[in-house]
Amino acid sequence: MIVELISVGTEILMGNIVNTNSAYLAEKCASLGFSIYYMTTVGDNEERLSEAIKTAIQRADIVLLSGGLGPTMDDITKETVAKVCDLELVEDLRSREHIQEYFAKRQLTNITHNNWKQAFIPKGATVIDNPNGTANGMIVKTGECHIILLPGPPNELKAMVEQSVLPYLTTLQDAVFYTSMVKISGLGESFVEDKLSDLIAKQTNPTIAPYAKEGEVHIRVTAKGKDEKEAKELVKPVVHEIHKRLGNFIFTDDENVTLEQNVIELLEKHELKICTVESCTGGLLAGRLVNVAGASEVFKQGFITYSNKAKRKLVDVKKATLKEYGAVSPQTAKEMAKGAALLYNADVALSITGIAGPDGGSEEKPVGLVYIGCYINNHVFAKEFHFTGERSKVRESSVANALSLLRHSIIEYYEGGFKQEI
Ligand code: ATP
Repeated sequence: MIVELISVGTEILMGNIVNTNSAYLAEKCASLGFSIYYMTTVGDNEERLSEAIKTAIQRADIVLLSGGLGPTMDDITKETVAKVCDLELVEDLRSREHIQEYFAKRQLTNITHNNWKQAFIPKGATVIDNPNGTANGMIVKTGECHIILLPGPPNELKAMVEQSVLPYLTTLQDAVFYTSMVKISGLGESFVEDKLSDLIAKQTNPTIAPYAKEGEVHIRVTAKGKDEKEAKELVKPVVHEIHKRLGNFIFTDDENVTLEQNVIELLEKHELKICTVESCTGGLLAGRLVNVAGASEVFKQGFITYSNKAKRKLVDVKKATLKEYGAVSPQTAKEMAKGAALLYNADVALSITGIAGPDGGSEEKPVGLVYIGCYINNHVFAKEFHFTGERSKVRESSVANALSLLRHSIIEYYEGGFKQEI
């Protein structure tokens, strides 16, 4: 099945809003195994919208439109679809009642004439209920093509997709797809690709697609089968082979499991308590760890030691260390981690100190230089990183790599290390 997305709204073209609906819809369609070849954004202009719809109908089996279903004059999606499909607009009584109920429930009395415009649908269309707004969606069938109209506000669109559109799309699926997401930390994308190059080269069903994430590599393995069991069986040997090659560099096969979740699980498993000490990341690392439900079992305390004074006062970094080597140095990173672990009786501590930029860099210590310190199993060490990009990117890279470093250290010290020769 080929799907085409059309987002309607001049606001999107002007850059006033980000087109999150397209990303959301594309992801949902891809998970059903549908192919998306084109996404178009059109302003509130009948002629251009009409062109976009006509083109989409010719080359897609399903056309998903979002936006332009509101009550105002510039909301023209439904009217344009009706014209293109040569259908008249007729009043839908259920939609009229829905508008009435919506206003009554909220004790709103100001239903204006144009609100009733939303009760009209192209003749023969199937109505999609909108639990969060007045604009119902609709499905119009023209020839072999299914045109699905949804309102622009993401909370309305998403609720309707979950409740009605996905079940409808599932009936159009010509096959079942099953996906495993193999997630790897501590190895680069090109390295992973190289290790799997023969598998990737001969892929047909399942398909194998690597993606680089911040500090991680994800490999999506998707198979198509006549039912879920068949698709699963096709995915299984490929995932097994990837595990054979990359071993415990892989932290999950589950799309929903995050690296921080895995780190918390490992800390729990080995009954380790952790402290974090952050300078340039200012709490981002602690934030990611605490985001995991159950983090309280292992997370003792997080420090933001941005100034030298805070480094000395809170985690006992020596004045002489700061003077001799500077705040951004392996020596300081190590003292930050060790100080926190010993002072607060933690088994593990992670520290981050670096130059996030855009200012503060020098020839000797450029922007992007970051030291991550780790205290674990009575050892302390620091690793040097050179990150690129703007301030927020350097901070995010630091946190991702700190999590990865910790995961690796736990495996080295508590799980007998990595078995693969990498
Ligand atoms: P309404 O009844 O609110 O007028 P509508 O179907 O006419 O709904 P639009 O007027 O096109 O939708 O958009 C309403 C709002 O929904 C926009 O101001 C914007 O905040 C959000 N929106 C619209 N399209 C998108 C999109 N593609 N991605 C994210 N948000 C969107």
